[in-house]
Amino acid sequence: MDSFNADLHVHSPHSIAVSKSLDFDTMIETCKKKGLNILGTGDILQPKWLKYAKSKLEKNGSGAYSYKEVNFILQSEIEDADSVHEVVFFPDFDSVREVQSKLKPHSSNIMGDWGGRPIVNLSPPELVDLVTDSGAMIGPAHAFTPFKAIFRQNKFETLSECYQDSVSKISFLELGLSANTDLADKMDCLKNISFLSNSDAHSQSARSLGREFNRFDLDNPSFDEIRLALERKDGRKITLNVGLDPKLGKYYIMFCNNCRRRVVFETQKKAATSILNTTSISDDFITIYASDLKKAHDDYVINVSKNKITCPACAEELNKKHKIRLGVSERIQVISDHDHPIHPNHRPPYINIIPLVDVVRTVKGIKSHTSKTVLKTYNDLINTLGTEFSILIDVPLKEIKKKDENIAQIISALRSGEIEYTPGGGGSYGELKFEIE
Ligand SMILES: [Zn+2]
Ligand SMILES: [Zn+2]
Repeated sequence: MDSFNADLHVHSPHSIAVSKSLDFDTMIETCKKKGLNILGTGDILQPKWLKYAKSKLEKNGSGAYSYKEVNFILQSEIEDADSVHEVVFFPDFDSVREVQSKLKPHSSNIMGDWGGRPIVNLSPPELVDLVTDSGAMIGPAHAFTPFKAIFRQNKFETLSECYQDSVSKISFLELGLSANTDLADKMDCLKNISFLSNSDAHSQSARSLGREFNRFDLDNPSFDEIRLALERKDGRKITLNVGLDPKLGKYYIMFCNNCRRRVVFETQKKAATSILNTTSISDDFITIYASDLKKAHDDYVINVSKNKITCPACAEELNKKHKIRLGVSERIQVISDHDHPIHPNHRPPYINIIPLVDVVRTVKGIKSHTSKTVLKTYNDLINTLGTEFSILIDVPLKEIKKKDENIAQIISALRSGEIEYTPGGGGSYGELKFEIE
């Protein structure tokens, strides 16, 4: 049995907002820097991308597809009639073609140039039945995000509510950037399902591709072996989920759907003379000051979940009513069964990471993640210390210190869980708060 790092949800230039320079060659460059062994192809149902993948991928004796030194799983994301995004893995090109022709009558964009993520007018159970009948595996994508996800606000609260009688055919659940195992294992209905942590990358940049990945124990990097691992059979398994600290994700906390300000709570500085909470508004945040933070937050979350809170910033500036919506952390708080995670025995550890590019950016005090200085330092670290994953997780701190004291300091804090973040929300990524000593 060997260990493989796999990022199983990416896209192609045939999905909107995807880098035009994304292809297998540019992806492979990033895989080498990061230490990724298996990638999803992304958008495999889109005719041009399917043709491209077919021309590049070779199938070896064990049934695994590869291009140069990276292995690929044929993969797509599909939006169903309930606006739930699903990740799909296919065993081979015959299965891809079969599903493509079965979906054609149900989708207006699947054969189009922008059909990378096809939209189909099938209910979640209908879609699950259709793809699994053709030998593919399926599960909900970025399950808790406020848009296009199974557990979004005012939508489903359990897996069976969504998939009904077909729930047993669901092979996995993808956590998404703003969730991790500690959050998702507060829900009883997820205890028997394997979690995937994938990047959903729209670009080949080292900050995007592989920002989340799964470490598998497999005999070989084929679809059949991944299936065994997701079913936890014959010793195949996921041994590690690795992903962004959820606070760095784009949808961790509550936000206004219109102005995209995030809602945060702070302790009232002065002794409160009134039981009423006070509010302040800045460009990015609505800050609510309260003396009893937990109670104020919990009450507010309940009211937001009932669609009862309008954005004070939009009301003041535009005289308009826009609702505050739950982020991933609060949505889980509302629909979970426990205050604390209860991990089933099969659940692998989850490591919260920060992309190394962002560590470098923070140390250099540079905002742009495409800055030449940042990329030069990033490449220099990779060339001397090893892959990004080994630098973040395994390389001894004294080795990193020899290269850069400050970078070593952040990685040390990351490994011991001592980093503070400004949480992301409403489409803005969280940021790392760090004082260089
Ligand atoms: Zn999606
Ligand atoms: Zn607003």
